[in-house]
Amino acid sequence: MLQGLAEELRRVLRPDSVIDDPVRLRTYECDGLTVHRARPGLVVLPEAAEEVAAVVRACVARGVPYVARGSGTGLSGGALPRTDGVLVVTSRMRRILEIDLDDQRAVVEPGVINLDVSKAVRPDGYHYAPDPSSQQICSIGGNVAENSGGAHCLKYGFTANHVLACEIVTPEGEIVTLDDGPGYDLLGAFVGAEGTLGITTKVTVRLTRNPEVVQTLLAAFSSIEQAGEAVSAIIGAGIVPAAIEMMDALAIEAAEAAVACGYPENAGAVLIVELDGPEPEVAHQFAQVKALCLDAFEQRVARDDADRALIWKGRKSAFAAVGRISPAYIVQDGVVPRTSLPRVLASIDRLSRESGVKVANVFHAGDGNLHPLVLFDDAEEGAEERAEGVSGAILDLCITHGGSITGEHGVGVDKARYMPRMFTDADLDTMQLLRCALDPAGLCNPGKVFPTPRLCGEIPRVRRGEPEGELY
Ligand SMILES: Cc1cc2nc3c(=O)[nH]c(=O)nc-3n(C[C@H](O)[C@H](O)[C@H](O)COP(=O)(O)OP(=O)(O)OC[C@H]3O[C@@H](n4cnc5c(N)ncnc54)[C@H](O)[C@@H]3O)c2cc1C
Repeated sequence: MLQGLAEELRRVLRPDSVIDDPVRLRTYECDGLTVHRARPGLVVLPEAAEEVAAVVRACVARGVPYVARGSGTGLSGGALPRTDGVLVVTSRMRRILEIDLDDQRAVVEPGVINLDVSKAVRPDGYHYAPDPSSQQICSIGGNVAENSGGAHCLKYGFTANHVLACEIVTPEGEIVTLDDGPGYDLLGAFVGAEGTLGITTKVTVRLTRNPEVVQTLLAAFSSIEQAGEAVSAIIGAGIVPAAIEMMDALAIEAAEAAVACGYPENAGAVLIVELDGPEPEVAHQFAQVKALCLDAFEQRVARDDADRALIWKGRKSAFAAVGRISPAYIVQDGVVPRTSLPRVLASIDRLSRESGVKVANVFHAGDGNLHPLVLFDDAEEGAEERAEGVSGAILDLCITHGGSITGEHGVGVDKARYMPRMFTDADLDTMQLLRCALDPAGLCNPGKVFPTPRLCGEIPRVRRGEPEGELY
């Protein structure tokens, strides 16, 4: 089946845009979450929307599942391929098609790298606001699918707030444009659908004017509780910083080892608080923030852009840096109400001590989005299972405190099993009705987000079994 499909697609796409060599296919066997791996049946590298549509139509005609992939930095296995399917990689769709500064928007292809949008408009005093820490490499198409966040999304909003329109190839192979016109908000449903409702081929994004001034504070605290209280005090005072990020002692140790960011020694936690906006407002609120961080034993204000970049370097490299202090780790992503932060952090600490599994904490503190990094040695028997146990228990904590099993990394294949802990069967069935309406054949990124996929036309509550597609 796939051999015939490869031959057909070589007639539609450039021959070198279709990969079926088993060695080259291995390049695509996982995303940033490497515990889930599956070698794709076939990989295609389309260069235009019409090519994507032709691939989708060919898959649908043969009943072959397909999965979109941008840069493969996802952390929930959303771009995990199918051994019996086609992986549609957008890395050759990297053109910025239009920049319209008067209307503050840009039109880009899905494979465009997030940071490249800001680089293109920086000379004119604009940027693209959503800034995942992976922004040097992740794609706009992936950001749309995951509704990605970033440090500055506290003030500026997530990807959904910056996407004005999407051209997509529907699961039936039609090219249509979704925008914010009247009628049902299909654009809203598509952003964050994790590639299950079609493939984005063009995105119109909002451009944001650069702020007049930026001020950045690095505050070091003896304990994470003190840092958590400072966050509550800042938000409680009505200040909306551009970003408030927190790292605990273990995360600081890792960042220092990796990038020598020069954070204060012996800190139990550091906060990075950044304010931006008009000069008088920032000056007034920055003084307030410094006063509210009264328990900090050291406060350091970024002197200039280079100093600011060094402060951010520690935070932005934190996930990768943990590789310096642990052979393997799980990057968890959960959300709790800000007011629960101190209690949840204390519970994570207790879980860690009781299980003997180390946990480093890095998070977007302003919106309660935790990123516990659960460390383990993959050479040690049973260590991964123990780490998985702690990681799952952290998600339970998030749910118990009224939070969520994901803040920005998505559900993907990894957290599908946790969905029933957060939603009832009726909730899940209702979500799947939308999916079935748009993808009746169930071929567009199947096996993701929901614990078990539903066949369209099925009576609610009767689900079919696990998807095909061998994992290894
Ligand atoms: C070091 C590191 C730091 C990170 N920091 C952050 C962070 O701060 N905030 C954050 O939100 N995330 C973060 N991430 C996660 C990840 O970078 C984001 O989820 C990102 O949006 C994924 O983009 P990608 O191009 O790599 O997508 P991929 O991993 O290739 O795909 C992700 C999902 O998008 C779908 N998809 C991709 N392209 C398309 C398309 N054209 N049409 C339809 N569906 C598509 C895929 O099917 C998959 O479900 C981080 C990851 C790493 C490794």
